[in-house]
Amino acid sequence: MRDKLTISNGVEKIVSLSKRRGFIFPSSEIYGGFSSCYDFGPLGVEMKNNIKKAWWDEMTKKHDDVVGLDASILMSPEVWKASGHLTAGFADELVECRKCHKRFRLDEIVNPKSEIRNPKCPDCGGDLTKPKKFNLMMKTFVGPVEDEASLTYLRPETCQGIYTNFKNVMQTMRLKIPFGIAQIGKAFRNEINPKDFIYRTREFEQMEMQWFCEPKKVDKFFDFWLKQRLNWYYNLGLNKKNLRTYEVPKKELAHYAKRAIDIEYKFPFGWQEIEGIHNRGDWDLSNHSKHSGEDLKYDPSAGSGQEYFPHIIETSVGVDRSLFAFLCDAYQEVKGGRTKTTKSVKEIEVLLKLHKDLAPVKAAVLPLVKNKAEIVKKAKQVYKLLKSDFICQYDETGSIGRRYRRQDEIGTLFCITIDFDSLKKDDVTVRNRDTMKQKRIKINGLTSYINNAIM
Ligand code: ATP
Repeated sequence: MRDKLTISNGVEKIVSLSKRRGFIFPSSEIYGGFSSCYDFGPLGVEMKNNIKKAWWDEMTKKHDDVVGLDASILMSPEVWKASGHLTAGFADELVECRKCHKRFRLDEIVNPKSEIRNPKCPDCGGDLTKPKKFNLMMKTFVGPVEDEASLTYLRPETCQGIYTNFKNVMQTMRLKIPFGIAQIGKAFRNEINPKDFIYRTREFEQMEMQWFCEPKKVDKFFDFWLKQRLNWYYNLGLNKKNLRTYEVPKKELAHYAKRAIDIEYKFPFGWQEIEGIHNRGDWDLSNHSKHSGEDLKYDPSAGSGQEYFPHIIETSVGVDRSLFAFLCDAYQEVKGGRTKTTKSVKEIEVLLKLHKDLAPVKAAVLPLVKNKAEIVKKAKQVYKLLKSDFICQYDETGSIGRRYRRQDEIGTLFCITIDFDSLKKDDVTVRNRDTMKQKRIKINGLTSYINNAIM
C-alpha cells in the first residue's frame, strides 16, 4: 500500500526529527543543556530565514505603506517605565506547591472562566501558595558597575523601539498616516514555566508590525490586518483546519490592549496562540510623549490644530512558534513507504511537506552510482552549478531509494539524479518531492527549471 498519509499527533516525533536532521538542538547540550534554550542547526536556520523573508516581503513589499526598522535590544530603562512593563502590567501570577516546590503560572492551571477557588498542584496534588505577581522582564547591567543606575532590561517585545522611533521614521521617510513599521528581532521574557519544546522559551524572536492610523479608522484596520495575517498562513500552506481565531475576553487583555484576537494553531498538545493582533489605542504614543516630553502627536496638515495621537494596530508573531507550527503541519508519515526501500506495508516513511518558500533545502544532487568517476564528476559539476543559486545538498552514500528517503524527511523539493544517459545527453532526472514524478531536464536549463518551479 502506498501514500496512505496520517498526521502524527506526537510532538516527540517533531523533536526527534529536529535533532536528528539538524533543525534544532538543545542549547549547551554538552553541558547537559540549558533550560528552555535551543539552537537552530543548519536546516533550522535556513527555515527560520525563509520564514523571516516570507514575512518581511509580505509586509514591506506587498504593502507600500509599511517600512522596516531594526532597533536595539537594550533601551533606556525609562522606556519600560513609560510602557507600563515595570509596573504590575507585565507580570504573571506565580504559585508554588508547598509539597513538591514546583512553580506554576496561575492562569495555566486554572481556567479563568472556572469556579475553582483553591487549585491543587497539577503534578502532586499538594496545596499551593497564594499567587504572587512575578515580573517577566530580564534584568541586566550596562557598564562595569552593577548598581541601580546601570540597571536595564532585555526587551520583552520588539515594538517599543518602533514607538520611540515613530517620529524619526515618519519624518525621514516623509510618511503620512496611515502607515506601518515592521521589525524582526530577539525578545526575552523570564517565563515562569517555559515548555513544549520551542513553543514557550525565555529567548525568542518576534516579527512585529505596528500600524499607525486615525482613531476612527482603527476597527476597519484591525479587521484588515487580521485577514491579511490569516491569509499569510494559508498562502504558506498551513492547513485551514488547524488555524482558528480567539477573541481575548476584556478582563484578560494585556495592560496596553483595547482589543486582541489571537491566531491559534492546533499543536499536538492543543490549540495555542501563534500570533496576536492587538488594538493598542494611543497607549504607547501618549505614554512615551508624557514620559519623554517629546510631542508624538500627528498633525494632518501643519498648523491645522487637529493634532492627535495615532492609534496603533499591532500584528505580533513569534518566529520560533510559527516555525514549530509549520513543522508540525508539514510532518506526514507514509505507511508502506514512498521509496523502494520500504519492505513492509507497516513500515513508515517521513515526508516533510513544507511550502516551497519555507523548505530549507531546495535541491539535492545524487549521482546514481558512486564508483563511476565520470558520473561523480558530472554530479559535482551540477552541484556547483546549482549551489550558487539555491540551498543544495550533495549525497552519494547509500542506495538511491535511501537517499530519496533522507531528502523527503527534510522536505527537499527536488532530487536530481545523474546517470549514464546524463554523460551522453547532458541531462538529468528531476524528481518532484510531492508528485514523485520524474522528468528529464537538460543541464543548461536546470537553474531556470527550478527557478520557475519555486517562484
Ligand atoms: P502567551 O500568552 O503565550 O505567553 P502572549 O500573549 O504573552 O503569549 P504576545 O505578548 O502577544 O504573547 O507576543 C506575541 C507573540 O510573540 C506570540 O503570539 C508568540 O508567537 C510570541 N511569543 C511570546 N512569548 C513567547 C515565548 N515565551 N516563547 C516563544 N514565543 C513567544
